[in-house]
Parts: sequence; structure tokens; C-alpha cells
Amino acid sequence: MTNIDELVEMSKQHLWLPFTQMKDYDENPLIIKSGEGIMLKDIQGNTYYDGFSSVWLNVHGHRKEELDRAIREQLNQIAHSTLLGMTNLPATELARKLVEITPPSLTRVFYSDSGAEAVEIALKMAFQYWKNKGINGKTKFVTMKDGYHGDTIGAVSVGAVDIFHRIYQSLTFDSFHIPFPYVYRHSSGDPDACKDESLLELENLFYHHHQEIAGITVESMMQGAGGMRLMPSGYLAGVKALCKKYNVLLILDEVATGFGRTGEMFACNHENVDPDIMTVGKGITGGYLPIAATISTEEIYSAFYDDYTKLKTLFHGHSYTGNQLGCAVALANIDLFDKQKTIDHVKENTTFIQNKLTTLSKLKHVGDIRQLGFMTGIEIVQDKTTKKPFPWDQRVGYAISLKMRKLGMLTRPVGDTIVFMPPLASTKQELHEMIEIMTESIDIVTNRINVGLASTKK
Ligand SMILES: *Cc1c(COP(=O)(O)O)cnc(C)c1O
Repeated sequence: MTNIDELVEMSKQHLWLPFTQMKDYDENPLIIKSGEGIMLKDIQGNTYYDGFSSVWLNVHGHRKEELDRAIREQLNQIAHSTLLGMTNLPATELARKLVEITPPSLTRVFYSDSGAEAVEIALKMAFQYWKNKGINGKTKFVTMKDGYHGDTIGAVSVGAVDIFHRIYQSLTFDSFHIPFPYVYRHSSGDPDACKDESLLELENLFYHHHQEIAGITVESMMQGAGGMRLMPSGYLAGVKALCKKYNVLLILDEVATGFGRTGEMFACNHENVDPDIMTVGKGITGGYLPIAATISTEEIYSAFYDDYTKLKTLFHGHSYTGNQLGCAVALANIDLFDKQKTIDHVKENTTFIQNKLTTLSKLKHVGDIRQLGFMTGIEIVQDKTTKKPFPWDQRVGYAISLKMRKLGMLTRPVGDTIVFMPPLASTKQELHEMIEIMTESIDIVTNRINVGLASTKK
């Protein structure tokens, strides 16, 4: 058995981690060994709250008996066979289940292995849909400022987070960008005014360009990686109405927000919005295995259905598409939503979190708190009155997350917005303790930085 120091050294020698400046890793290495419930344990034996659900995936906790068992039972049958031209048991049953629980417009499930792939597929589907219908001009996409849809080149082409995407710009295709209704930084600060202005801008774009536009990609209700930004109420329904009016496909990205995260099974349920295409991933397997799906209407599906020689097939697929182990655990995950009344639990504890966060909101550097269910962003600013951010290269969000790690909780900030997205199964006591750790960490780090700033002035 390798000893701890050797393991850490090995990780520094051979790994290249996603979305990670490896110099940061070398300074602060962490190797997780096990998990139980909402706790993670590292190789030194330290335990941490999984305050970000292992990057927004986990639902019912780690080592959940029913989920572990679903995988073991599936292993007794088969681990994987292909979905190219044939199907398997759990992929078939899961497809029906997904159609049952997603909005009524959606009837067809196309599997993949990650959220980014689900988005790639949605883009190809929307693009080819118009071609298959004999309508040639509709080839472009609309995306929102600070939208994030994954890291493959197509998904990056409809992404708009400057710091991640700028460098790859010449590799991507052009999309139309529209502003996101970011209430906290809107001149009026009024949600309705912000909503109306953004919708007007979208309508203006559609009015002039709808004949070129295949679809619009939207993170449902809440933008994640771009800064945990919540849409003002009525905005998503407004986008849907404009899509209908101008004949543009609405692609809702529910990879982060789906599966109960926001207090509804899907975030679009908050506004009763029926998308043309929906992408899901992350929570679909309870955070166990890489399954994702692109779910479409029958109308879109039928545009691809014809004799082979018409070449209307959706030419896309991956080796592990529809993997049995993943589909089996996804079925068990969805089953647990019923058995454990997960959505009710989230709804009930949403107010609890909100109340607990009031203390935190009083801290000197907490500018804005945006919460929908168990999805919360806490924006840290240098000056609360002017909303002026800290200089980005000071990395206040990162410093806070390191402090939280020391105090026993893991999360990953998006810029200077602290992400609080615990597993949906978290109890009141656990939520309380996590919020205590966040509050203390934000307080300590921002005060220390203030002292630093004051002394450099002298
Ligand atoms: C995480 C995420 C993705 C990408 O999913 P991966 O499984 O990481 O490829 C896409 N869209 C949204 C909204 C996400 O949060």
C-alpha cells in the first residue's frame, strides 16, 4: 500500500486536473478516499461537508444503499452493450421515465455521457431539424451573456463566460449574444424593469434575425458557472413566448438545475415553460455515473424520421451512449425522489436556508445572495454601497474556499461568488453547520483582505 506522502507526490507528478491551474493544486493538494452521506473523507482522514455536491451532482448523498444496490444488481446482468441500432433494458425504461417526469412537450430521449455532449447534440439536432424540414437559412444560435453550457467546442460556441471562452474564440462558430437579466447589477435594481428591458432586447434581435436563427440556448431559471444568477420572475416564460412568436427553438439547459435542485423537478416547472429541447445531466444519476440526455419534442423527432437514403439521420453517438450501469442507477435515483419525497424536502428547507443566510447577508462584503431551492450564490464585493467588486486577481472567492476547506467544507467558487449547492438530502442540522462554516470563512478572509488593503495604502 502506498503511503500518504507518496500518493500526494504521485498526484502532483502525473495528473492534469480539469479547470485547474496545477500550480494551485501543487500548493493545496487534496485526495478524496471515501464518502458517506453528505461527507467526504480524504486520505489523511480529514472529513469535509460536500457543500457543492461534488460539482453539483450529488442528490441523495454518497454511498446511498439503494443506488449502490442498483449498480450491483445491474452488474449481475451486464455492464455495457451498445445503443447504436439497438437498445437495452435500463436505457429503455429510463427513457420512458424521463418522458414522464419532464415537461409534457418532450417525448424522445437521446443519451450521451456528459452535459457538454447533451448540449452538442441539442445544437446539431436544432440545426439539422430546419435543414430536414427544407428550411435553409436557420443556422445560428442565440446565447446569453455569461451563459455556460460545457467545454466542448460546440458548447463553448454558445458559451459566453469571458474568462473561460475568450482564448478559444477563433475555434468556435459565431452566436448572437444577448444580455442576461442580472438584477443586482441592473441600473434600476428593479426585477421587472430588468426583465422587460432584456426581453425587449431579445425581441429586437428576433425581429431582425429570426430567419437566420435555429435556436436559443438558455440555462433554465438560474445561470450556474457564469455567476449563479437568478432570472427575474416571468423572464423565462417571456423568452418562451418570443420563441413561439418568431419560430425559434427553445433549448433549455437543465444540466445544473434539473432533478430537484431548485425545488421543482426541473427549473422550468417554476414558470410552466415547455421547451423544444431539454438537456439534462449532473443529478440524473444522483451523482454516481456519467449519463446525460437530450430530450426533444415529437415534432423535432419526426423531422429526422424517413427512409435511410433521404439522409435525415442524426449522425451522432458515443461509445458508451446508454450505458446500462448508468441508466440503472438513474432509474433508482428517480425512484428515490418518490420514496423520500425529495422535492418536498427541498421546498421545506429552502426557507430554512434563506433564513439562515440572513446573518451572512449582513457581513460587510456580502453584496448579493441569489437562491433558488438548494442552488445558492453569494456574491462577495469590495464595496457594498457601490457594488464594486474586489480586483479579480486578488482571488477572494478562491481564498474563501480554501478557508472553508480548512474548516471542514468543500466548494468551488465562480469568480467571487461563493457556491452553496449541498446534496438535496442534507438535513437542517447539516445545512446549519455548513452555513456557519461559510459565514465564518467569508468573515475571516474578507476582513483579512481589508486589513491588507488598508496597510498597502499607507
Ligand atoms: C455542468 C454544466 C454543463 C456541462 O456538463 P458536463 O457534464 O460537465 O459536461 C452544461 N450546462 C450547464 C448549465 C452546466 O452547469
